[in-house]
Amino acid sequence: MREMMIQLRVEAEDRRWQERANCLGVDPDLFFPERGASTREAKAVCHGCEVQAECLEYALAHGEKFGIWGGMSERERRRIRRQRALARRGIVGA
Ligand code: SF4
Repeated sequence: MREMMIQLRVEAEDRRWQERANCLGVDPDLFFPERGASTREAKAVCHGCEVQAECLEYALAHGEKFGIWGGMSERERRRIRRQRALARRGIVGA
């Protein structure tokens, strides 16, 4: 029971940054565009968001496969994951 309480608390703290998000109150559909649709509007909301870094790291840590997080598309996040994986293995600049 105690472990579960601690886990819930950690998860709540993990998401506290969301209270300062630029996208609060913005239509969530904007951040999950249809394949091939423009991501420009969503990225414009992310631009200047004070928790952009936290948002991106959350998405990377939780393996979010869809939508715009931290101002980046799925493809852009995949590139970061790949670069970090290569860096961890000591392969730089690949
Ligand atoms: S970076 Fe974008 S998606 Fe993430 S919290 Fe900020 S506005 Fe929302």
